Amino acid sequence: MSNPGTADQPLRVAVVGSGPAGFFTAQHLLAKPDLVVTVDLYERLPTPFGLVRFGVAPDHEEIKRVTRQFDKVAAKPGFRFFGNVDVGSDVTLDELARHYHIICFTTGAETDRRMGIPGEDLARSHAATEFVAWFNGHPEYRDRQFDLSVERVAVVGVGNVAVDVARILSRTVEELSTTDIADHALEALRQSRVKEVYMLGRRGPAQAAFTNPEVKELGELAGADIQVLEDELELDPLSRADVEQADDRKLNKKLEILRDLAAQQPAGKPRTLAIRFLVSPVELVGNEAGQVEGLRIVRNRLIADESGRLRPEATDHTEILPVGLVFRSVGYHGVPLPGLPFDDWHGVVPNDRGRVLASPDAPMPGVYVSGWIKRGPTGVIGTNKKDAAETVEAMLEDLAAGALPSPTDPEPAAVEAFVRQRQPDALTYADWQRIDEMETTRGEAEGRPRVKFTSKDEIMAALSSEEHDR
Ligand code: FAD
Repeated sequence: MSNPGTADQPLRVAVVGSGPAGFFTAQHLLAKPDLVVTVDLYERLPTPFGLVRFGVAPDHEEIKRVTRQFDKVAAKPGFRFFGNVDVGSDVTLDELARHYHIICFTTGAETDRRMGIPGEDLARSHAATEFVAWFNGHPEYRDRQFDLSVERVAVVGVGNVAVDVARILSRTVEELSTTDIADHALEALRQSRVKEVYMLGRRGPAQAAFTNPEVKELGELAGADIQVLEDELELDPLSRADVEQADDRKLNKKLEILRDLAAQQPAGKPRTLAIRFLVSPVELVGNEAGQVEGLRIVRNRLIADESGRLRPEATDHTEILPVGLVFRSVGYHGVPLPGLPFDDWHGVVPNDRGRVLASPDAPMPGVYVSGWIKRGPTGVIGTNKKDAAETVEAMLEDLAAGALPSPTDPEPAAVEAFVRQRQPDALTYADWQRIDEMETTRGEAEGRPRVKFTSKDEIMAALSSEEHDR
């Protein structure tokens, strides 16, 4: 039999996960001129876009405009969306394999890394992932509680997620109330008594992961003075040599921004946001009620490992930061998916340019990955586009080589009937567009981009009452 991808025998593809990687994978496939292909995009949540909706900070609205590109993908013939459908529990990989030539997992990195220090499980110690998901209105995190009655908070990490968390904690209510931050978070932050926020980096300023616009923005907050300690900004000889050798324009700019921040005089704003370098948390100190009341940190110096990479080494100089709330932001981590191999150490599905590998030389025919579950939690949204292109390239090579499995029941109507039987609440892209319109209408009334629905029940009720009114 001939290879699929023709009008007689369209190529049937399922993509699992509707974040950037899922949409970019669909986009690349649907743009191939000589390929007749359909793409069904599965999403376990009722709404699409993954971390663009539930990760990107509410005060960075412009970043979310990428969803307009995703709308164009969804408008293409051959595209379908199945929201509210969890692959693994509602439908399994084996079941999907009956309907598709290709199944591509783009499920992201859903959990966080831990610090592995005493006291990490005390009350008022949280993963930044939880806080971010909560303030962005993720349905599974809306009931989380964060005690914002404390005056001091530590955010462990100096990547962009840590910056987001520190910035949201430092923003004024006026600044936040024009964003799409979840209503419950806006209300809780309105009551916040936080006065000092510390961001902690275990290495020096030359190794900090945050990017330049993000760190610069910290010096421009309406309600918080920035504080960077001059002595922690001073480069040690090894870092100075690295910086000189790298001669990296962006890195030099980053150091300049940090020096400018250090030179800023406090303007008596109600809050202070302090960035600390060369310190590692070693213990969360609890009170009698089992809540965090301090964070013991140790001062580090940098040493070069065998590969020449600078890593922190603890000195014997420790101090206690009297913080009542700690957010760790030391990395995201993928979770295993039923039926797929998993590399626990890296938190990814083992793969060769997107082909899932059951063992080092044994690809699983027709099964692929793209995005964070493929390469780990790195890069910006656009990085996933290139990454998806590589995976789609591998799919097309396998298609040309006749290496794809043949599904027994590839008809789109059969898939739809099967999915609806398993998940009667499966939502379409048209459903999402109605939700989107309702959210933006609710936002207009308040001068905000949108007011999000934050639970599946709310969404289902809004859709059915709107249907009723029509
Ligand atoms: P995700 O976006 O996580 O999408 C995965 C999707 O899969 C989710 O919708 C999930 O619900 C779904 N899923 C998971 N399991 C299943 C299953 N079993 N069945 C069905 N569906 C499933 N990048 C920028 O460029 N600018 C920023 O400002 C920015 N801010 C960020 C802020 C935060 C807090 C974080 C964490 C990341 C940020 N990023 C930003 C990075 C960007 O969000 C990622 O690069 C991108 O979202 C990764 O895409 P992905 O599709 O691999 O994963």
